[in-house]
Formats: sequence, structure tokens, C-alpha cells
Amino acid sequence: MRKITDIETLYIDFDAFFANAEKQLCPDLRTRPVGVIPLASEHTSLIARCYMAKAAGLTRGSSVAEARARCPDIALPIARHDEYVKLHHRILAEIDRHVPVQKVWSIDEMECVLIGSERARCIEIAHAIRDGLAEAIGPWVTPSIGLAPNQFLAKVAAEMDKPNGFVILRAEDLPGPLFDLKLTDLPGIANGIYKRLGQAGVFSVKDLWNLAPKHARAIWRSVEGERFWAQLHGYAVSRPETVRRMFGHGRILSNEWRMPDKARHCLRLLTTKAARRLRREAYLARALSVSFQAADGQRWQGEASFAPARDDYRFLHTASALFDAAISTYRVKRLKKVSVMLHGLTRSEEVSHDLFEQADARDQRTRWETLTDVVDGLNTRYQGSAVSLGPLYQPPGGYAGAKIAFGRVPELEDFG
Ligand SMILES: [Mg+2]
Repeated sequence: MRKITDIETLYIDFDAFFANAEKQLCPDLRTRPVGVIPLASEHTSLIARCYMAKAAGLTRGSSVAEARARCPDIALPIARHDEYVKLHHRILAEIDRHVPVQKVWSIDEMECVLIGSERARCIEIAHAIRDGLAEAIGPWVTPSIGLAPNQFLAKVAAEMDKPNGFVILRAEDLPGPLFDLKLTDLPGIANGIYKRLGQAGVFSVKDLWNLAPKHARAIWRSVEGERFWAQLHGYAVSRPETVRRMFGHGRILSNEWRMPDKARHCLRLLTTKAARRLRREAYLARALSVSFQAADGQRWQGEASFAPARDDYRFLHTASALFDAAISTYRVKRLKKVSVMLHGLTRSEEVSHDLFEQADARDQRTRWETLTDVVDGLNTRYQGSAVSLGPLYQPPGGYAGAKIAFGRVPELEDFG
């Protein structure tokens, strides 16, 4: 393993991104506390809040009732995922003017690798990025920037002095400022690992720093423990690229969409979105699973497999059949959440279709594939869901299948 002596990573983590994006987009909100909610409901909770709201004691996850109680003048805009994704792309373009973005970790976190002379100019580059963003995007969407030997430490640095932070962790300063942090300030230390660390007598970052790598491995019960230890100590850690295993979407249903017929519409919409993403990335799927949670908490999952497929007809037909059978068997009256997953992925060049496939079955398959391609082409041209196999109904809140999830930024084509 290589111990890094230079500043090799610049990490950017935007402050209260959705809430500040709303302030940037809506000047009326700038003087008020802002909490972003996922849908228009008094029974939901905040998915983001600005620093004014934070100062009043609100956190991500505070209920709307609590938000109104603590901040009577709070503004509660509904999340506009499409606007945030547009902003995200403008942000990437601006950062790229100064230094290439190596990896997008989420909608509001990016990593840049510094090479050659960039390392000596790292502070200058960080300032140029901050000024460039203020100019190109606006002063309300603020970044916190961390500079450090590796990605892990640069991310930690970016979080050390939020909002509008700028922290440099140099190899020669380690562990120094790390010992002022709590264990849970380190990315990757949450409930499970945190508990195990406690059981092993590790209660502080100092304790963790002083562990032997093998001991860390034992606590994590995997090689991840050694990786974690190495990153903390400023080593370069490479990890195998993760290979995509599935395309899936899930959705929590709002009150008016919990009847089985509405949930079924939602499932069809999610299936169409997942299928479109699968095709955009040039995969076929051999299996589809549907899962739901009934309003009484009961969960159900079913799966069906088929010859490698990429057409909406196959997926919609399979998803609907699984769903209908489960609803009638279990007499479900109300549902809370539905999800669909396409898996058993394969590339078209790897598929050898069954030589004994009946001629009419083959003709039908190719006809559905051709039709699906035509539909995709039209929807790309007319930006959205101009054409679909059967009607698609948008549930309230919109953005089915195009929500910004941790680690996944939807593409602009996901919105329609
Ligand atoms: Mg952030």
C-alpha cells in the first residue's frame, strides 16, 4: 500500500443542497427558514433543511408539525428533483473548468483527483472553484471543500467546518485534528459498526487510529475494516469497481394512492422507468421482482424469470401479473409502498437466444422490441412520456422513478 504524502484529492460537499437550491431558485425564500418536503402533506417529514432551520433545531427527518412549531415562518417547498439535477449538471460543468471531476458520489458530492502541478496549486484551485460556482450558479448554493491525501480524508475535511467550509488535512498533520472528531463523524461509521467498535473497546477516533489493521478487520468482519483503517491513516486504497446488478425503483404511496388499482398504476410507471434506464445502459434482464408493503405492515415479494428481455411488454405484463396474483391471494386492501426490480442482467452481445424458440414466439418478441425502440425514440424526441404501452398515471408528488437517491443522480431523461 502506498502512503500518500501530498494533497491528492479535492472533495466538494454542498451545504444543505436541496434547501439552498430552493433559496437560489426562489428569491422569496432567502430570508426565511426552508425545509424541503417530498410531497404535499402535513404528515411527511423534511428531506433537507437550510441552516436557518437547523439553527432552530430542525434536522433532516423532522416532521412538518415539528417544523411549523419551531419555525412558524418556515417555507416548505416540495422537492423538485428535476431542477436539482439541472443544477447538478451546471455545477459539474463549472468544476470541470478548474479541475476534472473524477467521481460523482451523489447529487451534491464530487471528488476531484489532483495531479502534477495541481497539487501545489490546490488552495488556489479550491478558491477558484468556490468563486466560479458563486458566479455561475449563484451565492446561495454554497460548497464546503476538503483537501487531503485521499478521498476519505478529503470528505472528512469537507464536513469539518460546514457550511461554506474549507479545510486542509495534510499528511504531516495526521492524526491531529482527526482526534477532535466523534467516531460517527467518519463516513461509514453508523449503527452496526459503531456498536461493534464499542464492544471492542473503541470509543474514540484515537482508539480507532491506534488499532492494528488486523483488529479493524476483525471488528468489521471483512477486509473493509483494513481498508477503513488504511484510508484513515492516509494510504491510497483502491477498490474493485462495482458491477451493476439491477435496475429498480420503489415508491412510498401517498394516502390517495394506496388502493390496489392506484398502486398498480404506480407499479407500471416505475416498471416503465426502470426498463427505460435498463435500455439506455444497453442491458437485458432475465428476471423481474415486485415487492410491496401493505398498509398493515405486511410485506410481500414475488419474482418471475424469462428469456433475456428488454421490451416494455414483457416487463409490464410480468409485473402486473405478479402484483394481481398477490393482491387477490392475500386480499390486500391498502398498500404503503411498491417496488420493482429488473435483475439477472446481461448484455445483448452475450445473449444467445434459445435455438428452439418457437418461430411465432420469436416474431412476437422482436415485434415488441421494435415497438419499444420506437416508443423510446418518440419519448426521447418529445422529452418524457409522450407514448406508453397502456396509460401511465402520475401519482401525486410526481418524479416516479426519478428521485434523487443516495449515490444515484437521475439522468435528465428520467424526468418526463
Ligand atoms: Mg451535502
